[in-house]
Amino acid sequence: MKKGVKLADSHAHLDFNQFERDRSEVIRRAEAAGVQLIINIGFDLESSRRSIELAEKYAPVYASVGIHPHDAKNAPGGYLERLEELSAHPKVVALGEMGLDYYRNRSPREIQQKVFREQLELALRLDLPVILHDRDAHDELLQILKETGIPAAGGVMHCFSGDWTLAQPAMELGLYISMAGPVTYSGNAALSEVASRAPEERLLMETDAPFLAPHPRRGKRNEPALVSLVAEKVASLRGVTPERMGMACLENTRRLFGINQKPQY
Ligand SMILES: [Zn+2]
Ligand SMILES: [Zn+2]
Repeated sequence: MKKGVKLADSHAHLDFNQFERDRSEVIRRAEAAGVQLIINIGFDLESSRRSIELAEKYAPVYASVGIHPHDAKNAPGGYLERLEELSAHPKVVALGEMGLDYYRNRSPREIQQKVFREQLELALRLDLPVILHDRDAHDELLQILKETGIPAAGGVMHCFSGDWTLAQPAMELGLYISMAGPVTYSGNAALSEVASRAPEERLLMETDAPFLAPHPRRGKRNEPALVSLVAEKVASLRGVTPERMGMACLENTRRLFGINQKPQY
């Protein structure tokens, strides 16, 4: 990646154990790669609290608080009140990740749906953007979004894994589409199509670190600095420079999450 490029990683899990030994170094490397903003995403109450701690410690880090569908079955009584309390922190910019995961089914589907709807309703009431996780549940997710509605503040389909027939209705609902490592893997024509056809002002980028490292780091631990590889790939699919792509996605991330911080470099 050339010097001067500016980027945002709209979805990372730096509170995970995989970063226990070198978290500060990982964030320094991200900043050196031009990453101005990292949204650290909660997947349960404890990780939501840890996300806020990271946001307090590191200037470029902001937090999202929520219950991942994998963890829906463990959501304790009163979890919505707790999420509401956590969301009052000035560096909490969204609710999530929330949604449906019918690939791993680590929580029963009815419980996933219930916990998703409840968080969506909370986001509507608080008017906070939502970070949506959808794996093999495209139709059901869209159905719930249409029934419940999305907050005026908007939201994002994180690590988008569908095709144009999902991207289009999602964008019509007002959602952003976030591209992650898989867009750099070969043989994903549907994802390449979405990355090249979606309007520039609707695209975000993310790592989902420590997972889904982009090519050629696939299989290794992912980290926010590598969002540059996602930006390069999407830029090449769209025939624009990585600088332009990075800047557009940084602006989109700021707009969606209401972050008006001054650039730090
Ligand atoms: Zn996810
Ligand atoms: Zn995630």
